[in-house]
Amino acid sequence: MAVSPTSDAGRPPPRVRVAPSPTGDPHVGTAYIALFNYAFARRHGGSFVLRIEDTDRERSTQSSERAIFEALRWTGLTWDEGPDVGGDYGPYRQSERAPLYREHAQTLIDSGHAYRCFCTRERLAQLREQQKAEKKNLGYDRHCRALTPAEAQTRAEAGETHVVRLAVPLPGETTFLDQLRGEITFSHEQVDDQVLLKSDGNATYHLANVVDDHLMRITHVIRGEDWLPSTPKHVLLYAAFGWEQPDWYHVGLLRNADKSKLSKRKNPVSINHYRALGYLPSTFLNFLGTLGYSMPEDQERFSLAQFVESFDAKRMSTGGPVFDAAKLTAFNGDDIRAMTAEQLRDAIAKRVLSDERIGALLTLSRERIETLDAFIPYVSFFFGGTVDYSGVAKKLRIKRRTPVESAKILATWSDAIEKDAEARTFTAEGLEAFSRRFCEEHEWKAKELFTLLRIGSTGRVASPPLFDTLAALGKDRVRLRLRDVGQFLKQLPALDPA
Ligand code: GLU
Repeated sequence: MAVSPTSDAGRPPPRVRVAPSPTGDPHVGTAYIALFNYAFARRHGGSFVLRIEDTDRERSTQSSERAIFEALRWTGLTWDEGPDVGGDYGPYRQSERAPLYREHAQTLIDSGHAYRCFCTRERLAQLREQQKAEKKNLGYDRHCRALTPAEAQTRAEAGETHVVRLAVPLPGETTFLDQLRGEITFSHEQVDDQVLLKSDGNATYHLANVVDDHLMRITHVIRGEDWLPSTPKHVLLYAAFGWEQPDWYHVGLLRNADKSKLSKRKNPVSINHYRALGYLPSTFLNFLGTLGYSMPEDQERFSLAQFVESFDAKRMSTGGPVFDAAKLTAFNGDDIRAMTAEQLRDAIAKRVLSDERIGALLTLSRERIETLDAFIPYVSFFFGGTVDYSGVAKKLRIKRRTPVESAKILATWSDAIEKDAEARTFTAEGLEAFSRRFCEEHEWKAKELFTLLRIGSTGRVASPPLFDTLAALGKDRVRLRLRDVGQFLKQLPALDPA
C-alpha cells in the first residue's frame, strides 16, 4: 500500500502484534484489534506481527488457527510475520516456545520474583469457598511464599507437583501509563500472585505474552480493555526481568446493543458469519474502523488506505462502541450499489454461487426437485440471514413443552456446540452424534428437538436430512436463526392448544 511512513524521530520503527487464541471461531474482535495494529504499523513504517497464543492446550485447535488466518486474510489485512509467513523472531506459535518460558520462569525464581507453590487443588478450592463465604476478594492467599527457596527446591526435586507464581511485591502499587486513558494505578493488594507456569510445566498466558512481546521486540501493545486488569502483572514482569515496557493502549471493547460485552448469544461474532452472508471485506473493515476510531470530521466511509493514511493512535476509542449490525448492512448496501454490474456479477458468482457451494446444494436437492428451475426456490433457505416463522408457528409447538422451554433448549444446544469437540466442527456426523447425546442428557426426545432444529434453522417443516442441512447452512447462520426462533417462541402464548 502506498502510504508515506512517519516515524518518531530517533525511535526504531514500531513493532505491533495481534495475538489471538485459537479456541473458537475467528472473532470480529480479533479483526477489530488487528485493524488498529495494522494501521499503526503501516502508518509508521513498522511491522505487524501475528502471534498465535495457544497456551490453553485443551481449548486450542489447529482448525481454529487455520480459520483465523483465513478470516483475517479475507478482510484484506496482511501481516509481516507470523506462523504462516515466518519472520526473524519466530516461532510465532506459543506451543512451540515452551522451553523459553521455562527458562524465564527459572530466572524469576532465581531472582526471587517468583516462587514455587505446592498448594493442592483441594486446598485452593477450600480457600475459594472460605473467601466466598466471608465475602472477601477471591485470590491466592500467598501461602507458599513462606517457604524458603531451599525448601521449595528440595520439594520440587523430589517430584512434588507445583506451579510457579509471580511474587507480587507487598506492600506496594503499580502505576502505568495507558496512552488512551492516562495513568492507572493498582494496589498490589488487588493483584493476585499469578500462576506463571502451570503444574505441567507450561506457561500461562501472562508469562508467555510478556516473554514473547519482549523477545519479539514489540514496542506498542494495542489490545482490548479486558486486558487492563492483567497489565499490572505484565508491568511487574517487565520490571522483574529488567526489560523496557511497551507503550500500552487499551481500546474499548465491542458491545451488544445493551452495552454488555459483545456475545454470540446476542450477535453473530464470527468473522465467517459476515463472510458467508456476503458482506464485502472492505466494507467490513470500514465498519470496524468506525466503531473504535473517530476519523477527522467524523468521516464514516473510508478505504483501508485512507484509514491508514490518517491513522493517529490517540483517536482510538475507549468508549465501548456498540456493534450495530444494521449499520454494517446499510454500508454494505451502499457499496453494492456503487459496484458496476460486472463487479457485482463477479462477486455473486465467486462468493454466492461458487461451484463448491452449488455442488453441495445439488447433493441435497436433486432427489427433491422435478424441474431445473425448481432448484432455486428449493434451496433458497440456504441463503441469507433470518427466515420468517409466521407460517410455521403451529408446527413449532411441541406437545407438553411450553414455547419458552423450547426456546431454552435451542439456546442450550447452541451454547453446547462450542464445548463439544465433535459438534464444534459442524459436520453432519458430528452434529448428529452430539445431538442424540444432548437429547439423552436433557431428557428430550430426539424427534422433539430435531423438529425445533429443523424449523428453527430453515423456517420450513420439511428439509433435506437435518444434519446435512445444518452443516450446509453453516454454524453461524444456524446460530443466528436459532436465536431468532428463540425470540419468536418466547412471544407465543403458552396456553394455545398444541
Ligand atoms: N491471547 C490474547 C487474546 O486472545 C491476547 C491478549 C493481548 O493482546 O495481550 O486476546
